[in-house]
Amino acid sequence: MEYETVIGLEVHVQLSTKSKLFCSCSTKFGAEPNGNTCPVCLGMPGVLPTLNGEVVRRAIMVGLATGCKIAPYSTFARKNYFYPDLPKGYQISQFDQPICEHGEIEINLNGAPKRIGITRIHMEEDSGKLIHGENLGNPDSSYVDLNRASVPLLEIVSEPDLRSAEETKKYVEKLKTILEYLDVSDCNMEEGSLRCDANVSIRPMGEKKLGTRSELKNMNSFRFLTRAIEYEVERQKEILESGGRVIQETRLYDPDRNVTQSMRGKEEAHDYRYFPEPDLTPIEPSNEMIEKIRAELPELPDAKKDRFVAQYGLPLYDAEVLTASRGVADYFESAAKNVKTPKLVSNWVMGDILRVINDNGLAAADCPIKPENLAEMIRLIEDNVISGKIAKTVFEEMEKTGKSPKAIVEEKGLVQITDTSAIEAEIDKVISANPSQLADYKAGKTKLLGFFVGQVMRAMKGKANPEMLNKLLEERLGKA
Ligand code: ADP
Ligand code: MG
Ligand code: ZN
Repeated sequence: MEYETVIGLEVHVQLSTKSKLFCSCSTKFGAEPNGNTCPVCLGMPGVLPTLNGEVVRRAIMVGLATGCKIAPYSTFARKNYFYPDLPKGYQISQFDQPICEHGEIEINLNGAPKRIGITRIHMEEDSGKLIHGENLGNPDSSYVDLNRASVPLLEIVSEPDLRSAEETKKYVEKLKTILEYLDVSDCNMEEGSLRCDANVSIRPMGEKKLGTRSELKNMNSFRFLTRAIEYEVERQKEILESGGRVIQETRLYDPDRNVTQSMRGKEEAHDYRYFPEPDLTPIEPSNEMIEKIRAELPELPDAKKDRFVAQYGLPLYDAEVLTASRGVADYFESAAKNVKTPKLVSNWVMGDILRVINDNGLAAADCPIKPENLAEMIRLIEDNVISGKIAKTVFEEMEKTGKSPKAIVEEKGLVQITDTSAIEAEIDKVISANPSQLADYKAGKTKLLGFFVGQVMRAMKGKANPEMLNKLLEERLGKA
């Protein structure tokens, strides 16, 4: 039997606002435990929440960027459950009237676009954190840190439109790119600012009805997300193939053992007794407000990608890679605007620049090779001052020293030789030193041209202009 995988995602994004969702406490990561708290986020009796308007603005930004309808009227609700990291005994969230609905995100599957539906986006507060005593030399105790309590989150829920772990990864990558462009979250997966719950089911190929899903909780890396889904799909296949039934449950992925394990079944599922939050008024954004936010949106990844193709004549593939990160796209543009051949900039950025920033875990803006310097190096190539090969040496020096390419070329005497007579003199030497290769070449082994090019290049320490060398050598061999 062939099966189809069906996945829907719930993504939680921590917003990088200065203050929390319902009080003015700081959201800064790494403060003293409980240093960022006040009676409101500590859930003291008698306090009242005050809605942070910036959170609403950012929720609308994300909704507009993903093509959602912005609700003219939406409300907060209390989601009731008991846990020591939730002092109020309920989480303020949104339930049946979320702020955004019915959007979509486009992903690229080997050149073919696919739209993934966004069911809803809603605002909610984060919980605190429990720190278990084993790590503090006190195994009998647990500690509560409420710095994260009431930090604003957006929950972004997708339709069950994803069909593989690979598609799911692309969807999360694209969503992350959009959030980074909007600058609403730092999207740091290791620190938990972006975490995913994946709902996974399978069904016989061709079947319309959805299979029973399991929900994989809180994955905060692309690798774990992919592996957990792949494991889960295989697990469900084995169950169905041996005549069993998948049960609806929440599972946790254990990266050390690469398995998912049951956390709780549907029977133990919470009844959250949702009810409207009485301490907050409904959110009713005016059309003016929504249109103002729309007008202030930055250029988004898809639009930037299309513009890169049109404006710089880049292949779609290049545009896609460059615009996957706003920082890299900005880097490319500040270098490309000052050269004749933007495609050369694209090649260097996609290759060596991405390598440098990825290897060192840097933002593009912090790359030791500044875009002005990359552009200057490319102009040296365009003006035939250096060859592409010498550029590799110049690049390495820039990476080490941060110096300008012109300074490096001068200091190291890397200027390429375009003096015809100097190149010809070396050609003559090489030809007379290799009579048997010359004979073979004349007998028809024209592939030996490469051998001669290599010999002359070596003698000239790689500095001969490659096009001139090729041309002169061919002429000379023809006459020899
Ligand atoms: P809950 O709040 O209980 O998790 P929702 O109805 O909000 O339930 O669904 C959450 C996510 O699960 C959505 O992303 C949805 O697309 C996805 N989903 C629902 N049913 C299935 C299914 N049978 N297989 C895969 N994903 C599903
Ligand atoms: Mg869920
Ligand atoms: Zn507070």
